[in-house]
Amino acid sequence: MTRSRASRVLVLNSGSSSVKYQLLDMRDGSRLAVGLVERIGEQTSRLVHTVPAGPNAGTRERTDPVPDHGAALKAVGEELARDGLGLDSPELAAIGHRVVHGGQRFTAPTVVDDEVLVEIERLVPVAPLHNPANITGIRTARALRPDLPQVAVFDTAFHTTMPEHAARYAIDAATADAYRIRRYGFHGTSHAYVSRRTAELLGKAPEDVNVIVLHLGNGASASAVAGGRCVDTSMGLTPLEGLVMGTRSGDLDPAVIFHLGRVAGMSMDEIDTLLNKQSGLVGLCGDNDMREIRRRIGEGDRAALLAFEIYVHRLRKYIGAYYAVLGRVDAVVFTAGVGENAAEVREAATAGLEELGLVLDTELNAVRSAEPRLVSPAHARVAVAVVPTDEEREIARQTFALIGNTSTGKTATGESHA
Ligand code: AMP
Repeated sequence: MTRSRASRVLVLNSGSSSVKYQLLDMRDGSRLAVGLVERIGEQTSRLVHTVPAGPNAGTRERTDPVPDHGAALKAVGEELARDGLGLDSPELAAIGHRVVHGGQRFTAPTVVDDEVLVEIERLVPVAPLHNPANITGIRTARALRPDLPQVAVFDTAFHTTMPEHAARYAIDAATADAYRIRRYGFHGTSHAYVSRRTAELLGKAPEDVNVIVLHLGNGASASAVAGGRCVDTSMGLTPLEGLVMGTRSGDLDPAVIFHLGRVAGMSMDEIDTLLNKQSGLVGLCGDNDMREIRRRIGEGDRAALLAFEIYVHRLRKYIGAYYAVLGRVDAVVFTAGVGENAAEVREAATAGLEELGLVLDTELNAVRSAEPRLVSPAHARVAVAVVPTDEEREIARQTFALIGNTSTGKTATGESHA
């Protein structure tokens, strides 16, 4: 079989100690295999591999030690091979990699070569927690299948359409330029997918709708999408800015950092850990899982209630802000773990906003479903929707579109990305 007929895409999401993967068949969008290798480098590493459907349907688990990413990918290859889906299959068209930070340069998915890898490495100072693991994943996959297109799909790419007045911080311009300090935004693959699916749900073209997307997972971000293009988003230089998250503070007065250094005597690393890992919901009440917080609220727990209220207050501020940014809003859409599942969050975030055209249908909002759906009444001026996100599918789609459309160019837009 020739490469042009190959239709499978393997999506790799490489973290510092984990690799998540999905194998999709792009002819019909079916998921052939899904899995996770976790605790790479530890004695307790584990691989969980699932074939969702067909004669091999089922889940297998391996607990043999996985010392590094190379071993992880080798183990993934072995599990796929057991199902006749091995990495050496001629039906594998490409590997799509999630890369968190693409800076200003990578505005579209990009086929990785040596020069592109160097550029992704140059962005490590602005994404020290994420890009190194993504790079390791790409290097490992390239070593295993050097002949196969490896495509980098960037979390930041969807946000590169933000106008300068939304992307720049009001700090000394020369310093900002020297250190590439600006708002990049993250979760872009999710915001792109969800805003497009929302337009479909409304029966309109993406160019014709303005949408506020609320991606509420353990990490959380909001975006304002006008006619399919992102015009503002809540995460900034790093994924710390914006909404209250599971363990991250989101917005705060930057002077809090000076205060913690000067008055509390904390080091930069300690402050970094405090704001990224010990803040947000977990810092406020000790739990970062919204289910647990709701359960505690039901028992009259005041810290859990305050955490919920702070979370919702921030969310409402962003809905209002992005309403003003967009001018006209066709839909407010909730996605990711909290957004898709927590009806109380959707209710509290939109309560009392009838004047803005936002109304919730309580019964529709209470329905649990994995399908994209409206939770506002048919007559509502602004639709409120729940659209389950699917970042892996979007990475696969963008990867496949790129290798299908370009034989020589490097980016999906066909532009030089310099
Ligand atoms: P994600 O990062 O998108 O996987 O979202 C993870 C978060 O979703 C968890 O930390 C929970 O707070 C939240 N979550 C998942 N399921 C539910 C649920 N049924 N109700 C409320 N929150 C949920």
